[in-house]
This record gives sequence, structure tokens and C-alpha cells, in this order.
Amino acid sequence: MTAIDGLPPLREVIARYDLRAKKQLGQNFLLDLNLTARIARAAGDLTQCDVIEVGPGPGGLTRGLLAEGARHVLAIEKDARAIPALHEIAAAYPGRLTVIHGDALQIDPLAHVTPPVRIAANLPYNIGTELLVGWLTPPDWPPFWQSLTLMFQREVANRIVARPGGKDYGRLAILAQWRCDARIVLTLPPQAFVPAPKVESAVVHLTALPQPRFPADPKVLSELTFAAFNQRRKMLRAALKGVHPAIETLLRDAGIPPTARAEEIGLDRFCALARGVAAARG
Ligand code: SAM
Repeated sequence: MTAIDGLPPLREVIARYDLRAKKQLGQNFLLDLNLTARIARAAGDLTQCDVIEVGPGPGGLTRGLLAEGARHVLAIEKDARAIPALHEIAAAYPGRLTVIHGDALQIDPLAHVTPPVRIAANLPYNIGTELLVGWLTPPDWPPFWQSLTLMFQREVANRIVARPGGKDYGRLAILAQWRCDARIVLTLPPQAFVPAPKVESAVVHLTALPQPRFPADPKVLSELTFAAFNQRRKMLRAALKGVHPAIETLLRDAGIPPTARAEEIGLDRFCALARGVAAARG
């Protein structure tokens, strides 16, 4: 049976192009086109947007994005075996899919897209966090993208949306929530993928805020959260000792008890502390 786009079922594509999953490329494929359509819909209205997809593989999500009306999709795939399968999709959607064979960590997609841009991907688990951190730390804010709709291992997704007070709350939560709205929009069991990974997965949707939720210098905030969560069991006055000689006073001025631990402190207080540290350094 063919799908609505007239293309063959994904199992057939995988067999035809010998796309047996390779672990070192983080390959866990989604073969259910209803599911990839749901992920594409979670990315929002795509009709006026260019969409960057990292790791299209045999193209299940790519087909979802195109069928949901994406103006244009830029798909970056490292595995040469998948490229002919992706060209077949490009032929079914003339002028709407560009395929780049290469490493997403090395390629600057900006030359190939026109704003507004959204990013949607079922990320290879081994580079997912690195790509996310890169997208969250551009030189200027707002970033080149409007939203990120990304599949992660459930544990990573939990860390992105975590609130203060638990073990999941840390640098990733602060980095993501400082300048984005972040929520989990879908959770998927291992059996949704071929081959099935060991753990659950989840799709996180992040929308870029026009400006940060609270003012702070990105470098100082990053330095503070690194030091605070690197020794998360220590009291902040000890964990942040190296940041500034007057750290106890600066903590108090920011409304943070010096005996508190990092995971108890909300984003607003971390930003207040970052402003205080920056001002004290002059
Ligand atoms: N999007 C497909 C799906 O949902 O079925 C495949 C997702 S699979 C989890 C990850 C994909 O990323 C694989 O196709 C893999 O070859 C590709 N990949 C791995 N490392 C990559 C890299 N550095 N740059 C681009 N693609 C990469």
C-alpha cells in the first residue's frame, strides 16, 4: 500500500536502499507515517516557514513535514545510503526539499534557508544535546529559528523542561527556559522505533521568546550555573566561592540564602545573581 504522497512505505524504502540501522549513527527509525505527521503538526504552522531537519534517514519525518505543508525543507543527513531515498522524496515534492549529505555539526544551514525558520528533527541521540546547546547559544538573540521540535531520550527531555526542586533541574533547564518556552508535546515508547531503543523518547517543543525572560549576561549566567550545578550537593556559598570574593553578600542581595543548593534556585534568582556578579566585577 502506498501513502498519500504516492511514495512507498518506509519498510520498503529501507529494504530497497539497504538502510539497516547503524548504532554509531544513532539510527532508530520511525516507520509509522501517522506518528511522523503528528510530530510535524507539533512543529506548528509550517506553510510560511523553511524547516531544517537534521538526520532525515529514510525520510519518515521529512514526508510528514512536507505533507503538513512546509514551504521548504532543508534535510541534512550524514549517511550516504539514505541520500537516494531522500532524492525520491524531493522528486515527489518538486522544489520543496533540499538534501545535503554531510555532518550537521559542521554545516552552517543559514546559507540554505530563508526566514522564518523552524527546526524539527528526530535527533541522533549521540549529538542531540550538543546540537540543542548550539541552537540555544547563538551570538545574538532572538536566534535565526522560531521554534525547535526535537525528539530526545525521555531523560534528556525531562532535563530540558525541569523545574527547580529535583534532580532533573540543572544547566540544560536554565539554558532552555531562560530564552524559550519549552514543553514536552509527545512521549513515545521504545516500540515506536526500528530498532527499538532501550528507553522511552519524548518530543520537546521550544519556542524562542523575543527576549530573555530576565536580563542577564549570557557568559556570566553560564559561568554561574556551571559552577553551581557542577557541585550540586554543596551549598552555594561553597560551590560559587571561586566566582567572586564577596559571593555571600551577592547571593543575599539576589535573594538567595548562601546555604541553599543550586537545585532549589529558580531562573529569576540565578539571573539576579548574574547581574549582581557582573556589576560587582565592574
Ligand atoms: N529522521 C529519521 C526518523 O525519524 O526515522 C531518522 C532518525 S535517527 C534517530 C537519526 C538520523 O540522524 C539517522 O538517519 C542518522 O544517519 C543521522 N545522523 C547521525 N549523525 C548525524 C550527523 N552528525 N549529521 C547529520 N545526520 C546525522
